[in-house]
Amino acid sequence: MNKQNKEIKVPTRLFGIIGYPLGHSVSPILHNWGFYQQALPYSYFAWPVPAKDLGAFVVSLHTLPIWGCSVTIPHKQSIIPYLDKLSDNALSTKAVNTIYWEKGRLCGENTDCLGFIKSLQEMDISPESTLIIGAGGAARACITAFKWIGTTKIFITGRNKEKLYKLQNEHEVDVLSWKEIYEKDIKILVNATPVGMAGGWEDELPCSEEDLSRFRYVFDLIYNPVKTKLLQEAQQKGCITISGLSMFVYQALAQFKVWTGHEFSIGQAKELVKNFLESDK
Ligand code: NAP
Repeated sequence: MNKQNKEIKVPTRLFGIIGYPLGHSVSPILHNWGFYQQALPYSYFAWPVPAKDLGAFVVSLHTLPIWGCSVTIPHKQSIIPYLDKLSDNALSTKAVNTIYWEKGRLCGENTDCLGFIKSLQEMDISPESTLIIGAGGAARACITAFKWIGTTKIFITGRNKEKLYKLQNEHEVDVLSWKEIYEKDIKILVNATPVGMAGGWEDELPCSEEDLSRFRYVFDLIYNPVKTKLLQEAQQKGCITISGLSMFVYQALAQFKVWTGHEFSIGQAKELVKNFLESDK
């Protein structure tokens, strides 16, 4: 065997992201970079799985050397019946974004909560009050996270009243209309909708720009673009802004740790993702 052949490593463990459509997911770049950094002979793929094929994919999970998966829309809830165990985060949010094996059991975790908390802690933010726009999986993860860090006043708003009131009943949060925010002192606004995301929504705001000056902090969960229109407007109004990039990298780090027991550098990972998103334009 010559020297070149010895350097070729055959992957021994497979990982991937399932969702549909997947578009240009950043997760394969980040996790494969992490494996390379840690000299782990593993590979991470993008697996577009339409809703109708989820059951077939789960069969592959049981038959191929797949050690873990990231899970995104539309499977975060529909994957749950296929799992043997859920973490407290996954139970509380009723959503799974990470699958891993533990003693032969297929387990579900939600690292979005951890990623959200870490990105607040990184900026030393522990707000007593918040307003979250949206009532989907990410909003649920934020509610769980805020409860963990002791935020006492959690308000939610958005377009889907049925989902908002369901969240209110399940999580003891309060639904607010935009008119009602003027009666409240709310520290941090969180956008948990895709409004502002690359791919057609870049020029849109999830709320009126006049309302932004009421908040000390504005957190946009969107990470592509890194600086959304919401964050640009909020900065101009004097708010401290937080991009979803930080949450994305921290939630990926939590997945990486669950799967490998190793860590990667947060600073380097943020640079990598930022550069990837810039070059993808
Ligand atoms: P989801 O489950 O589909 O929920 C999206 C929410 O936004 C729903 O309440 C939806 O209302 C609302 N919405 C959608 N389009 C809207 C519009 N045009 N105007 C007003 N509201 C709208 O999605 P998700 O998983 O919660 O994700 C939400 C956002 O968070 C996405 O941009 C995602 O990329 C981001 N995210 C970021 C991270 C990170 O690590 N940074 C992690 C998770 C999610 P309806 O129910 O009426 O459709």
